[in-house]
Amino acid sequence: MNFNIALLKGDGIGPEIVDSAVRVLEAVGEKYGHSFKFTPYDIGGAAIDKYGIPLPEETVAGCLASDSVLLGAVGGPKWDTLPGHLRPEKALLGIRAAMNLFTNLRPAKLYPALAGECPLREDIVAEGFDIMIVRELTGGIYFGERGMREGKWGEEAYDTESYSRMEIERIVKVAFECAMKRGKRLVSIDKANVLETSRLWRKIVAETATLYPEVEYSNMLVDNAAMQLVRCPSQFDVIVTSNMFGDILSDEASQITGSIGMLPSASLNDSSLGLYEPIHGSAPDIAGQNKANPIATILSAAMMLLYSFGLAKESEAIVSAVDKVLLAGYRTADLAHGKEALTTTEITDKIIEML
Ligand code: NAD
Repeated sequence: MNFNIALLKGDGIGPEIVDSAVRVLEAVGEKYGHSFKFTPYDIGGAAIDKYGIPLPEETVAGCLASDSVLLGAVGGPKWDTLPGHLRPEKALLGIRAAMNLFTNLRPAKLYPALAGECPLREDIVAEGFDIMIVRELTGGIYFGERGMREGKWGEEAYDTESYSRMEIERIVKVAFECAMKRGKRLVSIDKANVLETSRLWRKIVAETATLYPEVEYSNMLVDNAAMQLVRCPSQFDVIVTSNMFGDILSDEASQITGSIGMLPSASLNDSSLGLYEPIHGSAPDIAGQNKANPIATILSAAMMLLYSFGLAKESEAIVSAVDKVLLAGYRTADLAHGKEALTTTEITDKIIEML
């Protein structure tokens, strides 16, 4: 099969880690008989330097015309003093909106070989954990009516959360589908004891569950979920939640893996077009040194194969190659704790060898 992939390398370590993922995709293409055509577009600081704006129209058009988008990271001290609307990070919101990416998938997996990186007690993570957080990305309180007003006690600020049936139905359906592809267990997280939006959310989850009898689902209040993630993370398979709760819980979940350079993400709309990116930033402190850990971006490419192209076997081949490289003891500097470390290029070579 042939696929067109838009590359948004961005700033800092972005170009290095995206180049690694491209090499892995090319190797997968060769092995399984697919052809990937890569077209780079400017975004973030790189686009500001060239065009004066962080998200040129040509970039948006190129992404929309592609089969999928792979992003490195944007931002860096060079652009930190620019006004808000011209900051590199503004491009991320712009491209997500332009592509109507309402689903954010953030896996948090503890690799047995990296158990020592986990900040939780050994007995808590003895079984490891592998969680997929499905976060609603374009609705809720971050997009609701907000403002300032004079209230009973003077100056007052407000933000409102509202969710339509359509917005909840489509994200909940994604979560059930995702559970079907994994361990068939889903926990919906809300605050239904207080919030009306959560009560509608819970009702729609129950309705949707009737379409997926194979999936074992339950509801959990968000305050309890925050505790359960550190008390017993292995109880979770797929989690679905609203924009704000997902924002907070996905960061909590990523921290308990202990390795920011390992975590991929996918943002999807209702077609197969998606935006795939590592969860970390542009790491300006190590940019250009061939020291960055490219695994989060390589695993983002693996998610692209699965979620945008339906290439499950090829996606699994990448994940398994990464597992093997870690089990063999190879590490980049961020995980080597002062011991011998491989460069970005070298660890990419090892992953390609293991494919
Ligand atoms: P960061 O994630 O870039 O870096 C935090 C720390 O983790 C640094 O010490 C860095 O060296 C290390 N690190 C991150 N990724 C790594 C990797 N793949 N391999 C090895 N080490 C890695 O966060 P920050 O320092 O807060 O932000 C730097 C810039 O990135 C800022 O301009 C910020 O706005 C931007 N940022 C962009 C995104 C994005 O593009 N999605 C996300 C977060 C931050």
